[in-house]
Amino acid sequence: MAKEYDVVVIGSGPAGYVAAIRCAQLGFKTACIEKWLDKDDKTVYGGTCLNVGCIPSKALLDTSHKFAEAQHGLESQGIKVGKVSIDVPAMIERKAKVVTQLTGGIKGLFTANKVDGMAGTGKVTGKNQVTLTTHDGKEEQLQARNIIIACGSVPIEIPPTPIDQETIVDSTGALEFQEVPKRLGVIGAGVIGLELGSVWSRLGSEVTVLEALDDFLPMVDRQIAKESAKIFSKQGLDIKLGARVTGSKAGTQAKKPVVKVQYSDADGEQEATFDKLIVAVGRKPYTSNVLDSSVGVELDERGFIKVNEYCETSVPGIFAAGDAVRGPMLAHKGMEEGVMVAERLAGKKTQVNYDLIPSVIYTHPEVAWVGKTEEQLKEAGTDYNVGTFPFVANGRALAANDAEGMIKLLADAKTDRILGCHIVGPSAADLLQQMVIAMEFSASAEDIGLTMFAHPTLSEGVHEAALAANGHAIHIGNRKKR
Ligand code: FAD
Ligand code: NAD
Repeated sequence: MAKEYDVVVIGSGPAGYVAAIRCAQLGFKTACIEKWLDKDDKTVYGGTCLNVGCIPSKALLDTSHKFAEAQHGLESQGIKVGKVSIDVPAMIERKAKVVTQLTGGIKGLFTANKVDGMAGTGKVTGKNQVTLTTHDGKEEQLQARNIIIACGSVPIEIPPTPIDQETIVDSTGALEFQEVPKRLGVIGAGVIGLELGSVWSRLGSEVTVLEALDDFLPMVDRQIAKESAKIFSKQGLDIKLGARVTGSKAGTQAKKPVVKVQYSDADGEQEATFDKLIVAVGRKPYTSNVLDSSVGVELDERGFIKVNEYCETSVPGIFAAGDAVRGPMLAHKGMEEGVMVAERLAGKKTQVNYDLIPSVIYTHPEVAWVGKTEEQLKEAGTDYNVGTFPFVANGRALAANDAEGMIKLLADAKTDRILGCHIVGPSAADLLQQMVIAMEFSASAEDIGLTMFAHPTLSEGVHEAALAANGHAIHIGNRKKR
């Protein structure tokens, strides 16, 4: 007899595990199916984010930042540390421990919330039916009043540079290098390219980033993107824009494997030799085998499961969330969608505010943004004020020897409502979050200007940018009126 559930969730990444836990909290009998196996063939929950995404990449970013600081950032503060070296296998092992601790944590949360974690592959085979295929090939039918598909995404591969996970790697392989590559190539100057490029650059790699587009970070406010590009190239990232990769060839140099990459740019045909090459050209939904076509759930031409604003698919009772559906591929977006679906199943009116999804690139300094860019406001014909504030005028940033970058706030010229915030600088992600909250409550720049900020903090920069938007920053913020 088929096991019966109120909700069966397929996938335990941020969208799936959060949906499952919230469903269980709301009193639904819930199962969550996960196919991911670790190196010891044990089922691990947490999906891309915990296993090979957000968390391991941040572990390496934090370690490599500490290393770079010890190497270059302490002497000016009077701290002498002598020669600093990096033990790469130890760094990778620590990263693995952080991952294990967190994936184990999800298992604990499932137990605590009475979610049935199930190992194997789930497939929607009927309107209310999920077939679970266990790792030893056995099939089990689950009867589900509702189904939430949260099967996530996988890296995109491109024909000129097939992944072998040795010399040519995707983001997962780039988290496992056992030594610092002398020459590292990165294809794609997106979020992964910049984060993982920074990790290995800080540890000593000569990093060349090949980006097909002529613009750097096109989704970012132009002023902030330009400022970020300056900072990254000063740090040693050689970012080549308009570079179209056409082919690659494996070879050896000094008995070690290398890869020669051919690309074309404004100067013609080029070739570069790398010890490792990371391909980071985006991700695609992992939906090829999660749905039986007879069920009638529609996919779009790129494989995303079609959903409305409430994550409902074309079939009632079947929902989809996270990277498998439209919108930015971000863990927090998936989590909020998971909560929304669970709460709406319980009759609540929960919504996701898709206009206020914060984005962060966790380089140092971080780049973070929310809401409209200046270019988008111009295009929409909106009258706006701009307040900017450079970190070099912030006492705390200077005290911490971490004063690169700026904050930019955009406010509606008529209503003063904050429309966007863009930051490159220390703790940009955490500073931005203050503005996400403010914008969720429809705050004006004046509201932020009238709020007291503790001194000395980096967040005073946000205060000054808000004051600057209305032309009266106390320190050196600048106002620009459109
Ligand atoms: P996933 O996390 O991909 O999880 C899907 C799960 O479903 C997987 O465990 C998979 O095994 C399972 N699954 C799929 N099909 C089936 C099936 N048929 N049966 C059973 N199980 C199945 N986002 C951020 O917000 N911040 C970051 O800092 C960040 N850093 C990142 C760094 C890297 C290197 C990468 C690659 C990604 C990063 N992301 C980051 C993106 C983030 O990881 C994803 O947006 C997020 O994991 C998506 O969550 P999800 O639940 O939709 O899918
Ligand atoms: P991305 O879309 O951020 O960047 C891919 C880059 O590769 C783009 O700039 C694109 O123009 C370029 N590109 C595409 N094809 C190319 C080619 N053939 N040659 C050269 N350049 C090419 O994708 P990503 O960096 O792979 O990240 C994937 C997803 O994971 C993103 O959607 C992102 O949201 C998510 N992610 C988020 C974080 C974070 O939130 N900090 C970190 C890592 C990943």
